[in-house]
Amino acid sequence: MSADTPESPSRRRVMGGMAAGLVAGVAAPALAQQQGAGTAAQPRDPTTAYPRPPFPAQQQPWPGLAGKMQPKPDHGETSYRGSGRLAGRKALITGGDSGMGRAAAIAFAREGADVAINYLPDEEPDAREVVQLITSAGRRAAPIPGDIRNEAFCNQLVQDAVRQLGGLDILVNNAGRQQSHDLFTEITTEQFDWTMKTNVYAPFWITKAALPYLKPGSSIIITSSVVAYEPPENLFDYAQTKAANMIYAKVLAKQLAKRGIRVNAVAPGPVWTPLQVTGGQPADKIPTFGQNTPLGRPGQPAELASIYVQLAAADASYATGQVYGATGGRGGP
Ligand code: NAD
Ligand code: MG
Repeated sequence: MSADTPESPSRRRVMGGMAAGLVAGVAAPALAQQQGAGTAAQPRDPTTAYPRPPFPAQQQPWPGLAGKMQPKPDHGETSYRGSGRLAGRKALITGGDSGMGRAAAIAFAREGADVAINYLPDEEPDAREVVQLITSAGRRAAPIPGDIRNEAFCNQLVQDAVRQLGGLDILVNNAGRQQSHDLFTEITTEQFDWTMKTNVYAPFWITKAALPYLKPGSSIIITSSVVAYEPPENLFDYAQTKAANMIYAKVLAKQLAKRGIRVNAVAPGPVWTPLQVTGGQPADKIPTFGQNTPLGRPGQPAELASIYVQLAAADASYATGQVYGATGGRGGP
């Protein structure tokens, strides 16, 4: 399935079984490519620009692969056009293999940055594609697999990124763990700890390790969520961590302002990524994922890429301690 392309027979079979609205939506990334989503583009109707529900029912073992999702998420592979906004910058992105992290990695490289990505060893197929995309943009890629629930690894990750890139001035804490549970008593201590370690401890450890390398003008970005503002009842532990991520940005921005380092958060709404089809949502909710937003569909990672670029870019010099929402019209910052 991972080798499935839009032209392959198996893909055609799946597409043939889909609702017409979805098929029309899947064709849309090609339109985005013509228009150049990362630069000035013609007006594009956000309700039809990307796939709309219903989606095929699907589940993958965690952490999942973007390459196995149907439809495949759009991370801006064929659409993002850079304009030198991050020329010569050096970025580390956790969860850079798929989802928002991958969209940021592609955009950063096309804007002129060298990019290190962290991910889990099981995600090597997705990570390989991202490395290829970064190097095709003419930039240096540093793939650094490993589990960020371990403090020693977090330290090593930062040292490896700095060594391979020759420095660091953009840090994106984006990796995340989300598992749906109807009732909080179903969550074991081990599961609770897993979510906290990934989403709250790891950004703390990684940022601590990175700080000595971050010079004035550096930018730190964390991926929070709409759930920090509108917590759904099935995400008791996860929603708390995303609220913590929002506060991470607001408090650190105050501490690091005097060093000339900006800290901001991105708060996405429902976005079509592996996180959702690996236990992030109840399986029966996947076909209608994103339908309950005013735009009537989930976001695609590509639609958030320019937000990460904007928060990282030097011309956003007065933006710190902010939360940038992209929720399809749901609540948020
Ligand atoms: P994703 O599955 O594509 O990315 C999550 C990444 O986290 C994985 O690719 C994996 O590499 C990484 N990760 C998880 N546990 C790890 C560990 N122990 N060690 C190392 N890496 C680990 O999904 P995504 O939706 O793009 O998630 C990115 C961020 O966006 C997360 O912080 C998530 O909370 C946030 N977010 C997602 C949505 C959504 O609807 N998809 C909405 C709001 C916020
Ligand atoms: Mg992944």
